[in-house]
Amino acid sequence: MSDNKFDVVVIGAGPAGYPAAIRAGQNKLKVACVDEWKNFDGTYAFGGTCLNAGCIPSKALLESSELFQRAKDEFGIHGIKLGDIKLDLAAMQKRRASIVKTMTNGILALFKANGVVGIQGHGRMLPGNKVVVTGPDGSERTLEAKSVVLASGSTPILLKTVPHDGQYIVDSWNALEFDAVPARLGVIGAGVIGLELGSVWRRLGSEVTVLEALAQFLPMVDQTIAKEAQRHFKKQGLDIKLGAKVLSAAAKGGAVDVVYADAQGEHTLQVDKLVVAVGRRPFTEGLLADGTGVKVDQRGFIEVDEHCRTNVPNVWAVGDVVRGPMLAHKGKEEGVMVADLIAGGFGEVNYKVIPSVIYTAPEIAWVGQTEEEVKAGGRPYKVGTFPFAASGRARAMEAGQGMAKIVSAKDDDEVLGVHVIGPLAGELIAEAVLAMEYSASTEDIQRTIHAHPTLSEAIHEAALAVDKKAIDGMNR
Ligand code: FAD
Ligand code: NAD
Repeated sequence: MSDNKFDVVVIGAGPAGYPAAIRAGQNKLKVACVDEWKNFDGTYAFGGTCLNAGCIPSKALLESSELFQRAKDEFGIHGIKLGDIKLDLAAMQKRRASIVKTMTNGILALFKANGVVGIQGHGRMLPGNKVVVTGPDGSERTLEAKSVVLASGSTPILLKTVPHDGQYIVDSWNALEFDAVPARLGVIGAGVIGLELGSVWRRLGSEVTVLEALAQFLPMVDQTIAKEAQRHFKKQGLDIKLGAKVLSAAAKGGAVDVVYADAQGEHTLQVDKLVVAVGRRPFTEGLLADGTGVKVDQRGFIEVDEHCRTNVPNVWAVGDVVRGPMLAHKGKEEGVMVADLIAGGFGEVNYKVIPSVIYTAPEIAWVGQTEEEVKAGGRPYKVGTFPFAASGRARAMEAGQGMAKIVSAKDDDEVLGVHVIGPLAGELIAEAVLAMEYSASTEDIQRTIHAHPTLSEAIHEAALAVDKKAIDGMNR
């Protein structure tokens, strides 16, 4: 095969595209992965939104800011006396940047180990499964592929009446790279990004106001958990205004005036920085040349079937650019599935069992259906909860807040949904994901031994509580 002929060309090296390329390499296919990501410092990097401007940098700052907060508020309770605790934001940001660099460089090493040709540049698909790559120096190279995988990801939704300037009115990427703590931070959208980034900057000293258009808080989350979360965030000082529709915002004189309307009428809020976090949209700009025939729906998503096949033979699409939750792990599984299917193997994604995590403190994680969804579906169900206040390990960690909740079917005891708010909820949910992947019953979890004292006992006790058999809890 010539240097420009491949079995598979993947466009996009985010968490959907790079795993597709790696698995294709593992499947002994000749594969190239093309990516155009450019960081603020002008360097190119693989890893997409997740590694460069999403999952990884946000978790680095969430960890650092939580430690800062705990050092101030919690160490004394443990009997640890510290002197004056000061923030060195430059050092915190340097650590964040260095973690990102290590992780994105790691992809280069993985590409090498798996025989993937990584190509930096913009990829545009032409009819006939050709991909023209325009390199950073403007040079063009045409790749030919038996199969093309489109993994071009997503980009923040911008609001016309809130003109983004990258300095005062910013998106989530800018908000991860602030070099000073804004005294007053406004966030539009109380979704996952709004809550995570709002938490980071509040812990570091900002006065944070979150404006959310909907009247309901976290509608996609089980409402017992959402209510508990709302109570904690309020106590922490996150000012979340529900039913607040932003009408306009304008930066002037080093601040931003935000005009919003709620049931009480119109208000103006002045902040030093305003983050717009109202969701993301699929990104396909410059991806498909005329005549490829690849169908894109009205909202801009590339149309695919349950196996991520587009309407064009041998053209696949995965990750944020296709339907389904915009989550890194969902994209990864799609990428791997597609690479296995291209190689003639078996591949399947179980869309019913995709975990979600919001990395606030307390953390929120869930899998499967909420109680509200089960109720609406009409299937008789039973519920068990266990509070972390009754968990010895959580108490020892000074983290006895929140609960684990399990919703199971009344008829055959199948676990339908597991919802956790509390310490390391994102780690705890993995057990529930595995249980649901194997169509476990509540009794299966009840009869599984959980080490003591661990946080995982909360899942065990919640399962016992489903049948009013909890030992350490009150069987609610
Ligand atoms: P992307 O990661 O967006 O990657 C697409 C890549 O394709 C990019 O590098 C882009 O430059 C490149 N590209 C696009 N078009 C072309 C082209 N024509 N030619 C060449 N290259 C192209 N998800 C989680 O699961 N957990 C989290 O904790 C989490 N935290 C997040 C925090 C923030 C602040 C944000 C913004 C998102 C977060 N997400 C998280 C969501 C997650 O980042 C996305 O779901 C994930 O990155 C999607 O992966 P992807 O590969 O589909 O797309
Ligand atoms: P989101 O969909 O989670 O939340 C957006 C929020 O903005 C919603 O509550 C919506 O009602 C609100 N909103 C929309 N328009 C508004 C307006 N005009 N005024 C006020 N509020 C408005 O989106 P996001 O927080 O931007 O995150 C984008 C995507 O990135 C999500 O799909 C999410 O899955 C992913 N993400 C995941 C994680 C994680 O897994 N921990 C972290 C960050 C981002």
